[in-house]
Amino acid sequence: MIKSFISELETGNKNALYKKNILHTFINLGDLSISDIAKEMDMSVPTITKLIGELIEEGYVFDFGKQETSGGRRPNVYGLNPEACYFVGVDIRRFRINIALTNFKGELIKVKRDMPFFLEHTPKSLDQLCQIISSFIDKLTIPKDRLMNIAINISGRVNSASGYSYSFFYFDEKPMAQTIEERLGYTVSIDNDSRSMAYGEYMCATSGEKHLLFVNVSWGLGLGMIIDGQLYYGKSGFSGEFGHYHAEDNEIICHCGKKGCLETEASGQAIHRMMKEKIEHGSSTILAPKFQEDTVTMEDIVAATLHDDVLAIEMVEHVGATLGKHIAGLINLFNPELVVIGGGLSMVGDYLLLPIRSAIRKYSLNLVNKDTIVRITKLGDDVGVMGACMLARSKMLKLV
Ligand SMILES: [Zn+2]
Repeated sequence: MIKSFISELETGNKNALYKKNILHTFINLGDLSISDIAKEMDMSVPTITKLIGELIEEGYVFDFGKQETSGGRRPNVYGLNPEACYFVGVDIRRFRINIALTNFKGELIKVKRDMPFFLEHTPKSLDQLCQIISSFIDKLTIPKDRLMNIAINISGRVNSASGYSYSFFYFDEKPMAQTIEERLGYTVSIDNDSRSMAYGEYMCATSGEKHLLFVNVSWGLGLGMIIDGQLYYGKSGFSGEFGHYHAEDNEIICHCGKKGCLETEASGQAIHRMMKEKIEHGSSTILAPKFQEDTVTMEDIVAATLHDDVLAIEMVEHVGATLGKHIAGLINLFNPELVVIGGGLSMVGDYLLLPIRSAIRKYSLNLVNKDTIVRITKLGDDVGVMGACMLARSKMLKLV
């Protein structure tokens, strides 16, 4: 029942496009009456009635019966059938994976956080990724033929349209998405992690802001952009390489091969390097033993900061000030309504946010920055996995 609509969409069939727009309207506005949809889409009531009838038959839409509205009318209200299809989102981090299942309405059904994983460009790491996804799916009690898309977030250069990842898992001519698809037996899509986070925040934690920048400060540094309500990809999907923007005249070689990248001064790895240098010059910190063992993670730095470790706080503040200076530039360029700070380091909250705000005030144009709200993500560590689930649904409907 479900496949027909999607295959029609592939051919550009007009009826299918109208149906897609109806479903998109439900996603954006929730449950609606036929006259509300007709008004929203600027189409006639008989046409919408016919299309809704077909969507009910195909299983995508539910008739929720007569509902009271503010005008005292009692029209039938329609909305997405939550059980029509399901989506899996996979958020790959450096040392762990978050994985979740959402239904057609976008409601979170199941989430597994912090599954141990080690991200590196090796077949072994790819095997581990596939194993984690497949054991998560095996335990699901949903009808498996309704699992329509598995969306995977990965850092680095990703061409979401072709399914190629250029920073991890490029072992042969085959796109990463296709390799995993063949192993798992489900449709798979991939996207850059920062872009997916931006989408998660936009879909799940904003109130209609159409111009949003999402700064992902984790071990590395990335940027996702929503411009005029649309996820911005650039020509080949490589937009948002904020971390590899030449920002500092230092001699630190970045993992991209260049030197002076912003990521070398404003990221989790920058804090790691600076703390190590400070310890070597006699500074004290509760993390000193872990530095000695060389086992310090992003989570350790966050925990030390939140436990009042002065050195960790100083380093976070320093990174916040540097980052804020360059976000000021982005604000001047994009005039966004919202700048969201997310990623592992954002878990320190105000220790990072306040120096960012202060630098933005100092370095951006006042007339421009007074339009902009700067805040930490409302979704915390789930922003990536929710973004992946939302992208999985939007990709099935060809909305992105
Ligand atoms: Zn770089």
